[in-house]
Amino acid sequence: MKRVLVTGGAGFIGSHLCEALLNQGNDVICLDNYFTGSKKNIVHLMDNHYFELVRHDIITSYYAEVDEIYNLACPASPVHYQYNPIKTLKTSLIGSINMLGLAKRLKATILQASTSEVYGDPEIHPQPETYRGNVNPIGPRACYDEGKRAAETVFFDYHRQNGVKIKVVRIFNTYGPRMHPNDGRVVSNFIVQALQNQDITVYGDGKQTRSFQYVDDLVDGMLKMMNSDEKFIGPVNIGNPEEFQIIELAQKVIEMTNSKSKIIYQPLPQDDPMQRKPNIDLAKEKLNWEPKIKLELGLTKTIEYFDKLLKNS
Ligand code: NAD
Ligand code: UDP
Repeated sequence: MKRVLVTGGAGFIGSHLCEALLNQGNDVICLDNYFTGSKKNIVHLMDNHYFELVRHDIITSYYAEVDEIYNLACPASPVHYQYNPIKTLKTSLIGSINMLGLAKRLKATILQASTSEVYGDPEIHPQPETYRGNVNPIGPRACYDEGKRAAETVFFDYHRQNGVKIKVVRIFNTYGPRMHPNDGRVVSNFIVQALQNQDITVYGDGKQTRSFQYVDDLVDGMLKMMNSDEKFIGPVNIGNPEEFQIIELAQKVIEMTNSKSKIIYQPLPQDDPMQRKPNIDLAKEKLNWEPKIKLELGLTKTIEYFDKLLKNS
């Protein structure tokens, strides 16, 4: 039995990861400050004696004896990470330094949840890991993008300088049950709007693209990365290469929910990337991983989740 620390464990992805780790027979510490996460996401795990919940903020040090660390703590939706940009940067950078310090002392392996945002508004399409990105360092998304880029830097420096065993995954847009209904991300926004027959808010002309990955595929990729050869440290893209325009997503959600919603157009936020699609050759080669869940199936499960949530609220 391994002892595993998941920071941000009460969030959307973290809660699915904690569940998968427990199912594999691990002893799991879920650490969270509940900024965007919630006890509701993990309440079903609380009867398990091998699950431990800790209220803590990773910008201060944390001590525990563990074998593996998954560092997910950081708000991920633009609305939340821009709410307190300085805090977002501190969480990404100081939080990573604290967790790397812990990994160094324990000789534990630490996996960083990095992001496709390190590529910014990409000029190369699809994006391979070798692409260095096109990020505006002073724009409203910079607290997140540059925070995550700086986090990758300290991960690699702790590895080079101190021999810390690191794993870096660059996660592309991920969706599924337990996304926060008000977190402003496109999949949750559109589904919640459609289920309530409210206007669907498309930003810009809706021709910008994203590639959407269902959360179970991501968790599978993260576990494979953690358990891969120690020499393979990444960064590795984990995402679904099926690319959609945002307007296509809006139409699909309306159709799948039988909604009476109309599409309305709102201004495109500053620095909103125009296209995004992962090149996943490296993940296929090194991890024998590729996503399995098609958008329709993932959306069906996510719509079911939000439907229940809205009916019970
Ligand atoms: P989320 O907001 O649901 O989860 C983040 C969790 O971290 C929340 O539970 C939050 O309360 C917690 N947290 C935030 N700041 C903290 C702090 N200082 N100390 C302790 N806990 C803190 O978001 P998510 O979608 O589950 O994302 C999880 C991770 O994956 C994030 O690091 C995010 O950057 C990364 N990621 C997500 C996506 C995606 O599409 N969902 C894409 C790329 C990267
Ligand atoms: N978006 C939109 N309407 C919404 C929310 C988002 O059109 O109600 C767009 C947003 O401008 C972006 C895309 O959907 O082009 C994905 O946005 P999200 O915030 O989910 O993720 P990110 O931009 O970080 O990839």
